[in-house]
Amino acid sequence: MNTNDINSIKTLLSSPKAIVIIPHKNPDGDAIGSTLGLYHYLKQYGHNTTIIAPNDYPDFLKWMPEERSVIKYDTQKEDSDTLIQKADLIFTLDFNALSRIGSMEDSVTNAKAIKIMIDHHQQPDDYATYMYSDVSMSSTCEMVYNFIEMLGDVDKINSAIATCLYTGIMTDTGSFRFPSTTSATHHIIGELIQKGANNSEIHNQIYDTNSYARLQLLGRALSNLKIIPEYRTAYITLTQEELNTFDFKKGDTEGFVNYGLSLEGIIFAAIFIESHQDEIIKISLRSKGDFSVNELSRLHFNGGGHTNAAGGRSELNMKETIEKFISILPNYKQDLNP
Ligand code: 5GP
Ligand code: MN
Repeated sequence: MNTNDINSIKTLLSSPKAIVIIPHKNPDGDAIGSTLGLYHYLKQYGHNTTIIAPNDYPDFLKWMPEERSVIKYDTQKEDSDTLIQKADLIFTLDFNALSRIGSMEDSVTNAKAIKIMIDHHQQPDDYATYMYSDVSMSSTCEMVYNFIEMLGDVDKINSAIATCLYTGIMTDTGSFRFPSTTSATHHIIGELIQKGANNSEIHNQIYDTNSYARLQLLGRALSNLKIIPEYRTAYITLTQEELNTFDFKKGDTEGFVNYGLSLEGIIFAAIFIESHQDEIIKISLRSKGDFSVNELSRLHFNGGGHTNAAGGRSELNMKETIEKFISILPNYKQDLNP
């Protein structure tokens, strides 16, 4: 984002506006953290600001300051459409293409509002008037911090903003361990703690609120874990029946895929989760080093994301999906088994 863009946005924000902020479908910690962080910032200027999420998100995110004000498009479509059509400005956060907001896509595409994208995913689409896209960033929350800084407002970061931004940086960096975590990330984290983010309490809220059923589901996932040593690959499957057995709730499988990647020698891990409701197998892919799961997912599973973390989907059944997955591994022999 250049100085001209920043100056134009400053001018736009200098008088009260109707603003809508949108995260991607199935929002994660970074999506909810960044939208709420920006919301608390814009509110200080007296803008009429609403966050509209395409759908609901896990309970472990439902404690952030003013999280309750978030509207869900799938259950409040009419109100949401009115807000979107009347908006002067729409911020789209933590996604790179309007297809990532599911059934909100048409409404947002047709909106007259000026659109501002803040995002760190690869290959962003060109739908926004102002684009702050940086794939080297650990998280959209880190970018919202930078955005506020570029606007000259670091001293407007209060404990609510700090709490939300800390949460998203923590979840998107796997608690500051992924390679996207830089000294700048840690510097910002230091500032956020200084401004009132309670790091230990935030960690507890996100990671230490397991239900017994979720741990049992994790046990099942780990029992289902398979290894393909010649491709340094591990994968997990969970069928709808298994999810039902362990009283599955949104977010329960978050992070499961990382167990595959924690195995010695494994550099590529996947989890395949059956969803009868969506009639798909939802896929999460993770890698270590240069092997791009973003590319693999774009090419074979109608998805995308980052080099080391991507998502996708399959319309085949579980057995066929796994067969397809195994059959494409030889295409990546160079990367996976050099
Ligand atoms: P997860 O596996 O946790 O759902 O997603 C991993 C990363 O890939 C996240 O940054 C997420 O936003 C992105 N992602 C997940 N699913 C999709 C998808 O279907 N398309 C694209 N482009 N990105 C996705
Ligand atoms: Mn993110």
